Amino acid sequence: MAPDMQSLLDRISAEMRSRTDRGAVASYIPELGQVDPDQFAIAVATADGRLFHAGDAQTRFSAQSITKVFTLAIALGRAGDQLWSRVGREPSGTAFNSIVQLEHERGRPRNPFVNAGAIVTTDELLAGREPREALAEILGFIRAAAGDDDIHINKDVASSETRHGHRNFAHANFLAAFGNLKNTPEKTLGTYFHQCATEMTTVQLAKAGRFLIGADKGPSMVSQGRVRRLNALMLTCGHYDGSGEFAYRVGLPAKSGVGGGILAIVPGKASVAVWSPGLDHNGNSKLGTEAMERLAREMDWSVF
Ligand code: GLN
Repeated sequence: MAPDMQSLLDRISAEMRSRTDRGAVASYIPELGQVDPDQFAIAVATADGRLFHAGDAQTRFSAQSITKVFTLAIALGRAGDQLWSRVGREPSGTAFNSIVQLEHERGRPRNPFVNAGAIVTTDELLAGREPREALAEILGFIRAAAGDDDIHINKDVASSETRHGHRNFAHANFLAAFGNLKNTPEKTLGTYFHQCATEMTTVQLAKAGRFLIGADKGPSMVSQGRVRRLNALMLTCGHYDGSGEFAYRVGLPAKSGVGGGILAIVPGKASVAVWSPGLDHNGNSKLGTEAMERLAREMDWSVF
């Protein structure tokens, strides 16, 4: 029989908080480098509407690349399958901010979750309107998914990344050089940096992920076919060069962010959010991954 969810989350949280080998917080965005690494939170929103959480689950953190799942859902809604002429669906086998494949593949990024691919996705979502309109749609989507309007963009984090995002400027310029950007690099990146600076609590993130549970559970914001495909991309590409390892250890579709958050989906059953700011060598939350591994094992949750 499945263990009691609340006591399981309490146990996982207590164990993770006692650990000292928690990885290093991202410092390439200076504002994120200020975050106290000694925090941990986990939250589970079930398909039947229950919510469980433990640790610092009401503390806001920077969602960063987890927002790429929401923008992909919106961009596919706007552009449909035409989006795939601009970005691929293959795992990259490289770091989230690696630029090498972009030249080899003539400006068509490997997938929508590496930075170059996410910049294309945001560019598509932005086309024909102003950044504030696109950002209002992104925030509106996330708030509606979470059923909570108290989700905001941290402007200090966005401007910190704008000042230091040299690699992302390189990506955007490369994309523009290959004719794969509809807006100026500055406009698209301004939107992308603000999107990444969306802050949420772990509880809000777990709730925002419910639309990906599928099987007609949770708010139906995108079609069931698209939910399946978003999950497929999360499983194969959601952890960059650590996607195979995450699938092996946890066995669930998931998306990480350099703020230390992970959103994982148990199809048909639950949306899980975990947060621990320290990262492993692939830029994925170190203890967050371990906590997900424990939870999935004890609940017997896996897509395999
Ligand atoms: N905003 C970050 C960047 O573009 C997002 C990266 C991440 O969360 N992996 O570098």
